[in-house]
Amino acid sequence: MAGRVCVVTGANRGIGLEVARQLARAGDTVLLTARDLAKAEKAAHGLGGTVEPRQLDVADRESVDAFARGVSHERVDVLINNAAIHYDTWQRASDADLGVVREALETNLLGAWRLTLALLPLLRAGRHGRVVNVSSEAGSLASMGAGTPAYGVSKAALNALTRMLAAELRRDRILVNAVCPGWVATDMGGPGGRPVAEGARSVLWAVDLPDDGPTGGFFRDGRPVPW
Ligand code: NAP
Repeated sequence: MAGRVCVVTGANRGIGLEVARQLARAGDTVLLTARDLAKAEKAAHGLGGTVEPRQLDVADRESVDAFARGVSHERVDVLINNAAIHYDTWQRASDADLGVVREALETNLLGAWRLTLALLPLLRAGRHGRVVNVSSEAGSLASMGAGTPAYGVSKAALNALTRMLAAELRRDRILVNAVCPGWVATDMGGPGGRPVAEGARSVLWAVDLPDDGPTGGFFRDGRPVPW
């Protein structure tokens, strides 16, 4: 499987950085992206293998377009939409600041959507494309209750997008899946969660799927999560 060209968003820290590390270690070429180029360069410096640091703010259309134009490879095999913001434990749907909701949607939903669209020609060229949307059980309608409204709605919408893209890109042999990494001890998850490497493994499972693997699913640790 090694030798793929992989794009990881929000890869300067947390799960994204660990995913980039493991892909590079496996022999893949990693476009390690961050909204701050200096942070991408610093993160890339600490990894072995073939890692290209790039500026990419998924909430900024110009940044996304410039990134896509600047990819020097003939194809992209793997896109990992990992960047996300606003795990808003401080508010509820019944008192939500809609400005926060809008920001969450801009990054967590539209950011992933925008970048996928921009990279589609390169993903199609790869012939074995994988799009992995890093979601969360907080976006599962089956277990949805009160709290984290901006985050939960943005991840539920990302899950819906996952199903649509999977159906539409199946004929291009691009597998599109949503994954939940579990509760992970990162800046977002806070202390007490599972180690970052375990969360990353849950993401990489969907990257490493064979061509006849599932598409349009929602998984944690390789097992289905209820929508
Ligand atoms: P994290 O430590 O907070 O890292 C988030 C990353 O996203 C950072 O690199 C951040 O960059 C980047 N980012 C934010 N907005 C961006 C934008 N507009 N453009 C590009 N990058 C942007 O979070 P994490 O825990 O690693 O989470 C990674 C993924 O796992 C997210 O999708 C999250 O929702 C999901 N997840 C996490 C947990 C958990 O327990 N940690 C549980 C379920 C799902 P800056 O450094 O510039 O801010």
